[in-house]
Amino acid sequence: MTPPLLIGNWKSNTSYTEAVSLVDASLEAVIAADGKVWVGVTPPFPWLMALRERLGQGHLWIGAQNCSATEMGAYTGEVTASMLKDCVTFVIVGHSERRAYYGETDDVVRAKVTRVLEQDLHAVLCVGEVLEQRQAGDAEHVVKTQLLAALEGYPEDKLYRLVVAYEPVWAIGTGVAATAEDAEDMCAFIRGVLNDRFGDSSDIIIQYGGSANEKNAAELLAKPNVGGLLIGGASLKPDAFAAMIQAAVSLSLI
Ligand code: PEP
Repeated sequence: MTPPLLIGNWKSNTSYTEAVSLVDASLEAVIAADGKVWVGVTPPFPWLMALRERLGQGHLWIGAQNCSATEMGAYTGEVTASMLKDCVTFVIVGHSERRAYYGETDDVVRAKVTRVLEQDLHAVLCVGEVLEQRQAGDAEHVVKTQLLAALEGYPEDKLYRLVVAYEPVWAIGTGVAATAEDAEDMCAFIRGVLNDRFGDSSDIIIQYGGSANEKNAAELLAKPNVGGLLIGGASLKPDAFAAMIQAAVSLSLI
């Protein structure tokens, strides 16, 4: 069975010095996990290459928080997937902050998934509803629409390069996580959508994200359809992140 996948989303945080001590602390926890948990972190762009050189290619994976929807060219300020290829293993695509603050549409998200795959990187595709949509009973519809739009034309031989992160927007950075039952229900729903879309989707890991922390990690990860966590705030606290890795290890021993 695939080990649980924990990814830290550092967002626009850390100086270079802070980033080095965070990866060093995370690496220690990952080495102690001895392969029972897969772990990645996504430092800001300027630190990626130096951190990759520091860590090498094993143990702790380095990812990017975003990439351009375009290929190389006259696109001032954009960082393309081809530029990231040598310093990361995976790229987060479609995070709700990108959708909300930078106007990323489903079409843009799909283009980014395509760019990531072209470079043989892994895509962590984020989907999730806002509070009003959940309250209106539209959460599943919203998530399904985002998923199918982003995965239009997705090649079936690259399913192992895809991670889906269910991140209810109302839970991100609020301190109010989804209940483990709600996370499980939506991850199970996503599994069904992926199975309908691809036949067998067992190569695709489905994560939950949104105020996951060292207190709720074990309960969330114990759910059969929650294959990992995308972690914002708690991934910036070395002790909390290490405790979450340890929680995942403990579950894998049961
Ligand atoms: C995120 O931004 O992807 C996230 C899950 O953040 P937090 O854990 O802080 O809610």
